[in-house]
Amino acid sequence: MALGEKTSFDSWNEPPSSGMRRGACPTLVAPMQTGDGLLARLRPDGGILSAKQFIQLTDAAQRHGNGIVEVTSRGSLQIRGLRTETFKGLAADLAAAGISVPSGPSIELSPLHGLCANEIGDPAEVEALLRANFAAELLSPNLAPKLSILIDGGGICGIDEVSGDIRVTAIDHGVWQVAINGNRQSAQTLATGCATVAVAAVGRLLHLLLSLGRHTRCRAIEQESLLSAFPLMDMVKKTKASGDRDPPVGTLALKNGSVALCLRLRFGQIRAKELVPFLRFANDLGATEVRPGPGRAFFLVGLTPQSALALSKIAPEYGLSADQDDPSMHIAACAGAGACASAHYHTKTRAERTVETAPELLDGSMVVHFSGCAKGCAHPHRGLSIVGALDGYQLILDGQARDIPDAQIAGGDIDSAIERLARLVKNERQAGESAAACLRRVGKADIIKALRQG
Ligand code: SF4
Repeated sequence: MALGEKTSFDSWNEPPSSGMRRGACPTLVAPMQTGDGLLARLRPDGGILSAKQFIQLTDAAQRHGNGIVEVTSRGSLQIRGLRTETFKGLAADLAAAGISVPSGPSIELSPLHGLCANEIGDPAEVEALLRANFAAELLSPNLAPKLSILIDGGGICGIDEVSGDIRVTAIDHGVWQVAINGNRQSAQTLATGCATVAVAAVGRLLHLLLSLGRHTRCRAIEQESLLSAFPLMDMVKKTKASGDRDPPVGTLALKNGSVALCLRLRFGQIRAKELVPFLRFANDLGATEVRPGPGRAFFLVGLTPQSALALSKIAPEYGLSADQDDPSMHIAACAGAGACASAHYHTKTRAERTVETAPELLDGSMVVHFSGCAKGCAHPHRGLSIVGALDGYQLILDGQARDIPDAQIAGGDIDSAIERLARLVKNERQAGESAAACLRRVGKADIIKALRQG
């Protein structure tokens, strides 16, 4: 085994650096090349698909790609394994299914907008006003393709943890707050007022960004420029979110009397051949809509409590989870052998085994990433990476799949290496310490020694 120097233990749980070309944003019309083919990312209009449309989308993913569908941590859909000769067919099939994907920067709404029982503002109304009043600015080719605008109506299913360039948050009935650069807690507040005031403030920001040069992001705006656009910004008091607003996995009562079921994709991906039969079943049980949401999850809407319960029980058979504490949510696994020609191993098999035998590593303090090769398609970010290679596996304690490995592990030894790592965490962890913090404290040299000793 060889201990590399490239990775650092400083950021086990840090938002990652992107493996994509800087500023690039894969879309339906301009998919991005990845290890397992072209990847298209899309956010349907309003973040809503009918149950039938989601089935059609998933069918199309099978027909034109490698059949793998993902929901990203921001709640966008990704279709993988497309080819140059097929991606146009995917766009045509989605258009034929009536799936509309707005142009311009991504406008992300709280996922259960219009349905959430304790929502205090209507994000769809703010989005419509924004698109009507600032259409030219939103469609300008000079706006950064990755610019993100978040509109959060409050209520239990918010998007507090999602970072954005611009966020518009309902803070009381009819009152919205505009902030930039960050999540609900970290963003800098600029203005507060009714929907019209909030939309005007976003318009001012768009003008400012366009005046500062092509593809400028909010983080590049100087305080001086901000102050001249928002002279009263220092007087705007930031409001805190009340309580836990992360969407809970499981069932949720909606204000129209129906129930939503929030499901996570186990290991962050799902195959169309598993998803389509599940969706057909959900459709038969009354699901009317599918709404992708943050945290690699989606909501099935329009259910009764009984149908939601029935679906949550069978979800694991289809690669989905309705369990809030499912440790698989802390694992990312790429398509792996059998689905991708570059893969050196069956990633999902290793991932399932890790759930069974190494739960100590899955406390949520880091992502355990099973990657069939060094391209790292499933998680282009830092994590505990187990990467397939010609002569076995490479272990990267805190880094991306393409980083210099900390240890080389022979093929037959990988399961016991993962179990040794879990045992080390179990034995060494101090009270209240996370797995990532424990490994960081123990340090690479001692971890590698423990792996060698068995
Ligand atoms: S093996 Fe995995 S990481 Fe490598 S190209 Fe295929 S899907 Fe991507």
